[in-house]
Amino acid sequence: MTMDDDIKAACDALGALLATMTRGVAFTGAGISTECGIPDFRSPGGLWTRNRPIDYEAFRTRPDMRAEAWRRRFAMEAAFGAARPGRGHRALARLMGQGRLAGIVTQNIDGLHQASGVPPERIVELHGNTTYATCLDCGERYELGWVRARFEAAGEAAPDCPGCDGPIKSATISFGQPMPAPAMARAAELTAACDVFLAIGSSLVVWPAAGFPVQARRHGARLVIINREPTELDELAELVIRADIGDVLEAATGG
Ligand code: NAD
Ligand code: ZN
Repeated sequence: MTMDDDIKAACDALGALLATMTRGVAFTGAGISTECGIPDFRSPGGLWTRNRPIDYEAFRTRPDMRAEAWRRRFAMEAAFGAARPGRGHRALARLMGQGRLAGIVTQNIDGLHQASGVPPERIVELHGNTTYATCLDCGERYELGWVRARFEAAGEAAPDCPGCDGPIKSATISFGQPMPAPAMARAAELTAACDVFLAIGSSLVVWPAAGFPVQARRHGARLVIINREPTELDELAELVIRADIGDVLEAATGG
C-alpha cells in the first residue's frame, strides 16, 4: 500500500525513536491481531456489535450463560485456531531480538506474541489466554478439545472439573473477574522502568489496563500511540500515528 506523506514522516520519526530505545514496553490490544483474522471488539463490525459480553458472575452462576460462552468460544475457533502472527507481532519480535524491548504487555488473549517467537517470560497477559481452559476453583488446566468433546457429548452443557466439580472456563479474564495479580505487578514494574511505551492497537478504554500508558508518562517515559482511530489518551503522547499497525511497524523497523 502507498502511504501518505504525513504517515511516512511519522514512521520515520518512530524509526528514529525506536533506534534509541533500550528498555521499551509494547502494550498491545486487539488491533495488532485484526490482520491475522481475529476481529477486535470496538471497530465497526467488531465482536461487540454482535454479542454482549458474558460477565464473570453470569458465567459462575448461570448454566445457560456458561453454555452460551462455550458456544461462542467454539464458534471463534476457526479464527483463533488458524491465526498466525502478523507484521506487527513480527516487528515487535525483531525489536525484542535487538534488545530494545524489555517486555510486551498485552490485552490480547490469542497467544500470537508467543507464536511470533518472543520468549513467554517476556510477555505479560493482562486478560489471560483463550487457547486453553482452567478450573475456576482448583486451577487445573484443560485443553479446548477436551472441553468441546464433553460439551457436545452432554448435549451442549458446559463440563465441570472432574477433580473438584468447579466450573471450567477459558483462561481469560471476563468483566467482573479479578485481574491476575502477578501479571498486573509485572506490567507495573515494566511500565515504571521503561524509556519508551508503545501503545499499539488498543482503544485504551478498558481499565485498569488503560492505566499503564498513563503510568508510563508519570514515570517520564516517552509515549507513542499507534491506532487507526483516535484514543482517549492521544493528548498524552508525543507521537500518535493513526494508520495501519502492520504498515507502520514494518516501515519503522525495516521489516
Ligand atoms: P478494542 O477492540 O477496544 O480496540 C482495538 C483498536 O484497534 C480499535 O481502536 C481499532 O481502531 C484499532 N485497530 C484495529 N485494527 C487495526 C489495524 N490494522 N491498524 C490500526 N489500528 C487498528 O481492543 P482492546 O483495546 O484490545 O480491548 C478489547 C478487549 O478485548 C481486550 O481486553 C482484549 O482482551 C479483548 N480482545 C482480544 C482479542 C485478541 O486477543 N486478538 C480480540 C478481540 C478482543
Ligand atoms: Zn477443579
